[in-house]
Amino acid sequence: MKKKDGHTHTRFSHHGSHEKLEKYIERAISLGFTEYVVTEHAPLPQKFLAEFTGPTDSRDNSAMHLDELPLYQQDVKAVQEKYGSQISIKSGFEIDYLSDYESDIRQFIIAQSEWLDELVLSVHFLPNHDAFVAPIDYDPETLNTYFPEIKQAPQSVFKNYFDTIQKSLDFAETLPKNVVIRIGHMTLIRKYQKYFNLPKFDSNNQTLIDQLLLKIKQNDFQLDFNTAGFAKSYNGEAYPTPDIVRKGQQLGIKFVYGSDAHEVSAIGQFYDLAEAIVSQ
Ligand SMILES: [Zn+2]
Ligand SMILES: [Zn+2]
Repeated sequence: MKKKDGHTHTRFSHHGSHEKLEKYIERAISLGFTEYVVTEHAPLPQKFLAEFTGPTDSRDNSAMHLDELPLYQQDVKAVQEKYGSQISIKSGFEIDYLSDYESDIRQFIIAQSEWLDELVLSVHFLPNHDAFVAPIDYDPETLNTYFPEIKQAPQSVFKNYFDTIQKSLDFAETLPKNVVIRIGHMTLIRKYQKYFNLPKFDSNNQTLIDQLLLKIKQNDFQLDFNTAGFAKSYNGEAYPTPDIVRKGQQLGIKFVYGSDAHEVSAIGQFYDLAEAIVSQ
């Protein structure tokens, strides 16, 4: 039976463990995974880094650095060669969608498209009212600093987030067709929901979600069923939430389990729970 982890990280994320990729793969094999996609955060566009308006640590430690790209690809190739008879290992990236840097990101993906099997397209950074672009998942204080309306008008932050995902889908339509595209953790904006006591999405945001799901289906994109939120004390849920999973499944969208592991011990985390939710 096929068992896949479609969203995993490595030592190149700079915000996880330094363990070797081999150890992640060995753990996946021991848990019975048959398919594994290495999806390290691709280097952020150089212009974006130069103009960065968020916290410095988030600029420097959110993704692999450009000069690490060959090392990352060597690591992936090495495990494909070493473990290929035991587990199918796909080459991937998690790509940050950044609306002001679309052409740079597209160029990067096109340049990598021969090597690249699958990508997870994610929104981690949003523009705020002052046109600063800041991370939504760095920590609660940062979210509150750049998006203070998260306390009084959280639906407006949700809308900003879903509008940006909508743009990311428009962008994804322009990418090479040979690459599998999966939309990452589609409700990441809820990461600190217990900290801010966030409400459910209102009807306007539900409508935006419905539109996103339709577009995902029309383009044959996949959805990341990401269990990292279960392990986060301020979250406690998977991304996306079960109601969205239902709707997506009714449309026939393909969901792929993602541990989003940033350390070996997180490989396979909450797989059984994910399977139960997705197969309901
Ligand atoms: Zn992510
Ligand atoms: Zn990730």
